[in-house]
Amino acid sequence: MNIHEYQGKEILSSFGVRIQRGIVAHNAKEAVDAAKELTALTGTGWHVIKAQVHAGGRGKGGGVKIAKNLKEVEDITGQIIGMDLVTPQTSAEGKRVHQVLIAEDVYYPGANEPEEYYMSVLLNRSTGRNMIMYSTEGGMDIETVAEETPELIFTEEIDPSVGLMPFQARRIAFNLGLSGNAFKEMTKFVMALYTAFDKSDSSLFEINPVLKTSDDKIMAVDAKVTIDDNALFRHKDYAEMRDIREENPVEVEAKRVGLNYVDLDGNVGCMVNGAGLAMATMDLIKQAGGEPANFLDVGGTADAKRVEEALRLILKDDKVKAILINIFGGIVRCDRVAQGIVDACKNMGDAVKVPIIVRLQGTNADIAKEIIDNSGFNFFSATEFQEAADKVQEALK
Ligand code: GDP
Ligand code: MN
Repeated sequence: MNIHEYQGKEILSSFGVRIQRGIVAHNAKEAVDAAKELTALTGTGWHVIKAQVHAGGRGKGGGVKIAKNLKEVEDITGQIIGMDLVTPQTSAEGKRVHQVLIAEDVYYPGANEPEEYYMSVLLNRSTGRNMIMYSTEGGMDIETVAEETPELIFTEEIDPSVGLMPFQARRIAFNLGLSGNAFKEMTKFVMALYTAFDKSDSSLFEINPVLKTSDDKIMAVDAKVTIDDNALFRHKDYAEMRDIREENPVEVEAKRVGLNYVDLDGNVGCMVNGAGLAMATMDLIKQAGGEPANFLDVGGTADAKRVEEALRLILKDDKVKAILINIFGGIVRCDRVAQGIVDACKNMGDAVKVPIIVRLQGTNADIAKEIIDNSGFNFFSATEFQEAADKVQEALK
């Protein structure tokens, strides 16, 4: 589950990670009140107005702006709220901004220049260990740094039996070129950041930039936080941070009815039981010259109700030109599944506008084929994999 920057910062702060402080606002009036409250708290006169959407690169898209006084806080908030923010990480339509974070300006002048670093915490899947990835090149996209100057990206792997060790935090501060108070601050920052990652059951933290202020404080200016969905049952307070406006509506609906659905860009919808078969089916669609429109695993039950729910989800996508149902009937007998498909289509009537290729294999596959063939619907039946691929190709023509 992804959350907003202001929510990510709340979590970080609760574990003692220093953050750029801010208050969320839903309109210009709230923004001005927030700015006044922050000034009282921090003494800052300037504020940063930051669009809260689930996408990075907001600065580049005009979603992060400096306000030098309350009038500018009001005007800029008015401009940003309600806009469709387009960034390198959104679609061309952008993302509607419903709220902004009014944050203290932390790039104030002082003894030193402020410096920006990059830091993320994530799982290294090849070693099965968490790692901290960091770089002196903060503030820009890390993909560009990785491509142009990979030697400026460092990693520190964490042994799960002992956790992050203080010497590792010191190595990070050293590699970032820090000394004196900034060095101490960075080691504290890194230790707290890792504790927050671990205790919050997050699967990704990306802090870009981590800032060294002109008076040598280290703080998180941005926070991209992804929490492991499977751990939300033990973090009720985080679960409430879900903002479904930011999520794909079809995926939200799928979750509600308990289907495993991921939206993709292609033209062939698929309905499959079992994740492995789903992946093989997506390969099959590609081989037939199509592109999968989704990943959908209906799981162990494929009765009429479930088939109907799945078909309705798939048909919400207008790009879908054909649907491939590929079900292995082991415990669920194929004839039952076939009857389920026919009943679902009867219930849906005109809603089914595209050809459906049905491949049922396993117990009673022959009876199932008869049911499909005699249904009177726009079905193509297949029993073999290749046959199904050919029929998809035909249907797309
Ligand atoms: P992103 O563009 O979505 O990654 O949003 P960030 O939160 O990283 O903000 C974008 C950029 O805004 C940062 O890289 C900073 O350069 C700038 N920025 C953020 N906070 C401040 C601030 O307090 N003062 C100034 N002058 N710039 C800031
Ligand atoms: Mn950022």
